[in-house]
Amino acid sequence: MHLWTHDRWRFPLPETNRFPIDKYSLLRERMQADGHELHEAEAVPWPWLEAVHDPQLVARIRTGTLTVREQRGLGLPWSPALVERSRRSVAGTIAAARFALGVGLCMNLGGGTHHAGRAFARGYCVFNDVAVALSRIRPDGRATRALVVDCDVHQGDGTADLLGPDPDCFTLSLHGARNYPFQRVPSDLDVDIAAGTGDERYLLALDEALDYAIPRAEAEIAFYLAGADPWEGDRLGKLALTKAGLRARDELVLDRLREAGAAVCVVLAGGYAEDVRDTVDIHAATAAAVAERVEPGSVAAR
Ligand SMILES: [Zn+2]
Repeated sequence: MHLWTHDRWRFPLPETNRFPIDKYSLLRERMQADGHELHEAEAVPWPWLEAVHDPQLVARIRTGTLTVREQRGLGLPWSPALVERSRRSVAGTIAAARFALGVGLCMNLGGGTHHAGRAFARGYCVFNDVAVALSRIRPDGRATRALVVDCDVHQGDGTADLLGPDPDCFTLSLHGARNYPFQRVPSDLDVDIAAGTGDERYLLALDEALDYAIPRAEAEIAFYLAGADPWEGDRLGKLALTKAGLRARDELVLDRLREAGAAVCVVLAGGYAEDVRDTVDIHAATAAAVAERVEPGSVAAR
């Protein structure tokens, strides 16, 4: 299948930083070995970002003039390379969403930067790829109504900030009750999952949440944030899903969304395993679940 990546645009990071920059390259290499076709999108134009985010925030990001407080909240050191990479990550989600509208499903090997809101960029998230992608695909006329299914272990505060007020977009976030962010912006539906919850109870809660969200969204396009951080071995996440449980999660979300008739754009979001290869395993399993479901006979089927 066709996949988008931006892993070649790396940025300087201190040893102690927990942002898993290597997962993107390792995942891309694994996808290439599996015979998938990789694409790199051009950096998203600045006006597209300014149409969604506060132009003054965009200007501070562009020029490296974030305040000390903003810099600390972002958790990544500013550099021109970080900005370039972030613009390419957004572009990958736009491209994957457009492709999904053609063939049913597609995936960006990046994105899911759900802590970026209209006027804030925090928690490793510079721009909100999903909100920007939605703003770009709507004028194409193929999709207006949208659903965001955010299964990263952290609540999708930035997405809720940007898309919560949007009457044609339903935002669902399923996350660890005791995980960051501690001051939240409410989604259309937030599901707090107790620390230590394993596969069975998580999947039940997810199924119920989808029962509620899908008929209300009546979505033509869905964005699925397939975070790897609800995994039991994650250093930041406080949930206890197994790799098999995460695979079952992916299959449940993909099947429910496809049954409902929505095109699905899958993005990575977080993953902070001690050994980055565990995070890559989880994301690769998500990609495999997507590949199995790409419509037979489409150009994306391989
Ligand atoms: Zn996360």
